[in-house]
Amino acid sequence: MGSARTDTTGSVSAAVARVQPLVATRALAGPFDYALPEELRSQVQVGSLLRVPFGARELTGVVVELAGSSELAEGRLRRPRALLSIALPGELIELAHYIARIYCSTFSRALALCLPPGAAAGIGLRRAPARVQASDGNGRQSEVTLQRPQLTAAQAAALAQIDERLGARRFAPLLLHGVTGSGKTEVYLRACERALAEGRSAIILVPEIALTPQIAARFRARLGDRVAVLHSALPDGERRAQWRRLREGGARVCVGPRSAVFAPLGELGLVVLDEEHDPSYKHESDPRYDARRIAAERARRSGAVLLAGSATPRAESFAHLQRLQLPERADGSPLPAVEILDMRAQRSLLHTASVEALAALRAAGGKAIVLLNRRGFSAFLACADCGHVWGCPECDVTLVLHRREGSLSCHHCGHRERAPRRCACGSASLVRHGLGTERLESELLELLGSELPVFRLDSDVLAREGRAGEVAERVLARFAQARCGVLIGTQMVAKGHDFPDVSLGLVLDADGTLRFPDFRAEERAFALIAQLAGRVGRGVRGRVLVQTLAPQARAIRHAAMHDAEGFLAAELRRRRALAYPPYAELIRVICAAQEAASAHGAAQCVRAHAEDELLAAGVAERTRLLGPAALMRLRGSERAALLVKTTALEEAVRALGAAVERAAGEHRAVAFAVDTDPR
Ligand code: ADP
Ligand code: ZN
Ligand code: ZN
Repeated sequence: MGSARTDTTGSVSAAVARVQPLVATRALAGPFDYALPEELRSQVQVGSLLRVPFGARELTGVVVELAGSSELAEGRLRRPRALLSIALPGELIELAHYIARIYCSTFSRALALCLPPGAAAGIGLRRAPARVQASDGNGRQSEVTLQRPQLTAAQAAALAQIDERLGARRFAPLLLHGVTGSGKTEVYLRACERALAEGRSAIILVPEIALTPQIAARFRARLGDRVAVLHSALPDGERRAQWRRLREGGARVCVGPRSAVFAPLGELGLVVLDEEHDPSYKHESDPRYDARRIAAERARRSGAVLLAGSATPRAESFAHLQRLQLPERADGSPLPAVEILDMRAQRSLLHTASVEALAALRAAGGKAIVLLNRRGFSAFLACADCGHVWGCPECDVTLVLHRREGSLSCHHCGHRERAPRRCACGSASLVRHGLGTERLESELLELLGSELPVFRLDSDVLAREGRAGEVAERVLARFAQARCGVLIGTQMVAKGHDFPDVSLGLVLDADGTLRFPDFRAEERAFALIAQLAGRVGRGVRGRVLVQTLAPQARAIRHAAMHDAEGFLAAELRRRRALAYPPYAELIRVICAAQEAASAHGAAQCVRAHAEDELLAAGVAERTRLLGPAALMRLRGSERAALLVKTTALEEAVRALGAAVERAAGEHRAVAFAVDTDPR
């Protein structure tokens, strides 16, 4: 096989195709050789999809290499049964190799990410109609005339920098650090137009939120039918159609959440990461990729501009990317004043200052947004007599009361049961502890009466009323059109909305996020407050109140001063001291089992093997292993985890993969996961 002459450009004479079957099983490696019949030789290229016989089955596979001959005797080579009408760009095949390596996955699973739905099942057998020339999509088509705003000086300066990088056609990682309302979207749009005008394509990644369709609509309105949208919520047929338009040149811009990073676009010039701090860029099942890493890697391989934008960037982006600043709001309005309210001496849910501010709003008319990052009615239910607390039978967490539904539910695994009327001990005095959005809604209705309508937005509301995107849009539209009112909800209410007339923002339990044992806790608490403040005071004078039990917390103090730079500088010092990103990369190995002891034992076993493997790979010095530590029980599994900090990511992942394989042989009842870039 090694002696076979290969030609990755797709030689007409290639008689053998190396095919990677699209299967989920880890055991099956590949690629496998198939003989190409004469009539297929001129049509099959690297990236082509073939239906091939495999054992007694027929599978879809991707041609990853073409060769003149095979090591297998010619008579033993089987022939493909059909050629599918879609083909992957060669660039994505390379990218799939990278994903499999970094995220400890298989080549097949990584390839599957890059294909439209149904590809593995062989959907798309029809030959494609004649290809649309890619140049048809370049700039001339369908000029959409919208009155475009005059750029602010800061926007113009940022764009000039982007322009220069686009012209150089070399990889340039940029951070558009702009305060909320500074007009980052306008910069993305213009950068996109420039890339198109140069005959290059663009990918615009947006967070996975109910508002994705609205953001996509904004790009369509400006750039017309050169825009395709790839979103897992689209019906399969629609996704295939969009994929094909991108692949064949009918569309040159792809807008969508994380999976859009795999858009089949050639001549990539620009990759935008809108709200780059958003956790939804991380995919939570195998391959556990982070779209931000993939975006940077794709941009690097294509010599494209990576443009990450945020008002609250991650510490690693702030440290590593070249910064373009938009320090002021596009309309010139000031950021709202932020006041910290100490809740330690308070007995009620709302601070007296919050109650006064809401009462003033009711009297004067106006709009407020109230953020509480917990849905449901109360955090947990306890028996006042015997002290019993209702917990999830599958996970180590308390069940949240949802009063309207009359249920208790687990926010980790979805377990649901009827809310009890009495305890097993016979007592009927059940006490509700903690505050959720459902309870906040009823408290506010009581406090504000009918003069100030309350609009609630959280995933309970979205789940109850059907299609999430439409429901969110409806709630937000009603709030936007109302003369006055209060929008309450979870972090969703702080994301991206542009209401011109919100004069009051209120954050409840601002330090709730800080209590999570997570190295990003500080960053998230800062972002939550800064993002909510970002919705306030656009077009009117604004004020933000932050209720907290930790008024001295660094994240909260800096957020109140709108001091992202100061916060990030201190955060980077802390990260350096603890060897967290950007000073090391993280990998988490999770072992899950029925019994806690099995999970722990397996994790210890992985650790021992990993020490060997890291030494053998020569990266032991650059890698630290921490744990095993017990994680909370989840979905009926006891779990133990190792945390790995390394400055040799690729080698460390390979070593851990090998260690897990060895441990798996010895601990058959344990499930293992290697998670690079854990959330
Ligand atoms: P960001 O994403 O930075 O928070 P947006 O892109 O939502 O900000 O822009 C905030 C508002 O400013 C929007 O209503 C947008 O239309 C407007 N805007 C953007 N650029 C300009 C400009 N140059 N002049 C006037 N208004 C602008
Ligand atoms: Zn009891
Ligand atoms: Zn649960």
